Amino acid sequence: NSTEPSLAKDNDVKNGESFKGHGMLAPFTAGWQTTDLHPLVIEKSEGSYVYDINGKKYLDALAGLWATSLGGSEPRLVDAAIAQLKKLPFYHSFWNRTTKPSLDLAKELLEMFTARKMAKAFFVNSGSEANDTQVKLVWYYNNALGRPNKKKFIARAKSYHGSTLIAASLSGLPALHQKFDLPAPFVLHTDCPHYWRYHLPGETEEEFSTRLANNLEQLILKEGPETIAAFIAEPVMGAGGVMLPPATYFEKVQAVVKKYDILFIADEVICAFGRLGTMFGCDKYNINPDLVSLAKALSSSYLPIGAVLVSPEVSEVIHAQSNKLGIFSHGFTYSGHPTSCAVALETLKIYKERNIVDQVNKIAPRFQDGVKAYSDSPIIGEIRGTGLILGTEFTDNKSPNDPFPPEWGKFNTQFFIYAFVKHRIGAYFGAQCEKHGMLVRVSGDNILMSPPYIISPGEVDELISKYGKALKDTEKRVQELKSQ
Ligand code: PMP
Repeated sequence: NSTEPSLAKDNDVKNGESFKGHGMLAPFTAGWQTTDLHPLVIEKSEGSYVYDINGKKYLDALAGLWATSLGGSEPRLVDAAIAQLKKLPFYHSFWNRTTKPSLDLAKELLEMFTARKMAKAFFVNSGSEANDTQVKLVWYYNNALGRPNKKKFIARAKSYHGSTLIAASLSGLPALHQKFDLPAPFVLHTDCPHYWRYHLPGETEEEFSTRLANNLEQLILKEGPETIAAFIAEPVMGAGGVMLPPATYFEKVQAVVKKYDILFIADEVICAFGRLGTMFGCDKYNINPDLVSLAKALSSSYLPIGAVLVSPEVSEVIHAQSNKLGIFSHGFTYSGHPTSCAVALETLKIYKERNIVDQVNKIAPRFQDGVKAYSDSPIIGEIRGTGLILGTEFTDNKSPNDPFPPEWGKFNTQFFIYAFVKHRIGAYFGAQCEKHGMLVRVSGDNILMSPPYIISPGEVDELISKYGKALKDTEKRVQELKSQ
């Protein structure tokens, strides 16, 4: 059957012989997938490509998980890690002991972030830890200011902020809450700013932004401004479906947040370091944050590291409070891990030397225009993106209100790596990409892509061509299903 993704030999389940599963409780994977299907095992990377254990080559259109910004084989990052491992593989940063790479990285990040002046960088290992740290910093700050009731957080529907208890609570994706007793009660969610899906008939982007800012203000007033501590937002929403802010959105929500003395947290875990064609998402949308979360492209994800940037105002209060209380009792064994910091420093050096923002802006139009040329497809509702991030949403009749029947993605699940608990036609497209040698992210009926910054013009053309083939397969599949 030509519509089956042709998985490599080792991934086949032999006639009647069931695969006994593997030993991992796998993240963001359905249990039955780990028992009934062989996983796609990636063994090696090379530039914009990865290879599975059977030698099949894939264009990595998601850069791992929006992560390997410099691609899969940057020797300077490997050398930086080896040099640091030889000199000092590990030392911690507790009790005013620390290492040179972590001090240097803090200095470098504070210089690089120019949307506003930041005073301190706190190191973590992931985006989730960055956002958990944000909540603790904000609570500590409000306790110091004698505002013990100002503790609630407002995030947005469809946001993704990570999967630890607090980061998952902040996230506005129901799947992260179901059966986990989440979200925590101090988290509130406001509107998702996705204009195409949620605007009223005749409403302009500006009017839509005004309505959302008003709704945010109403929520704050209903809860009591004295109870709301912070607002958290991704400049461009990533995992929820690559949604760009509508015109004037950040200007208007920032005005509301400021009016009620609520801190603004920019979750830049995906957007930072060039992804949007600016060094930070805050630069692109004139965001003036109090706190910033960073991870992923900070080290091109060669080693785990994240950071929280703290404004002078917040940092001063935290400093004064810890002078009273003694140590600031928060941190991780690996906060400022010297080897991760050394790799991050080298990554930032490469961004500077290669003028990474210009490099992204040079290749981005080829990528954006090439994929958006498929917008007329009858099964595509919207293609949206900027820089090197792009989302495709499949719908019928070009309407956000006509999703394809969820079960349409449920086909030949025995061979189907992408079949999530909720099957959707997006999953079919994802499987076709895989068949054609390209890895994308499937999120319901959204296809998400964020190729590495080092992608060449020829590789962008290959991406567009593979996307086109997968789209053709999917259009055919929809035709078949409609005529059944
Ligand atoms: N924030 C955002 C915006 C993210 O996209 C992610 C991860 N995709 C996270 C936080 C969580 O990062 P991690 O998976 O490193 O915990």
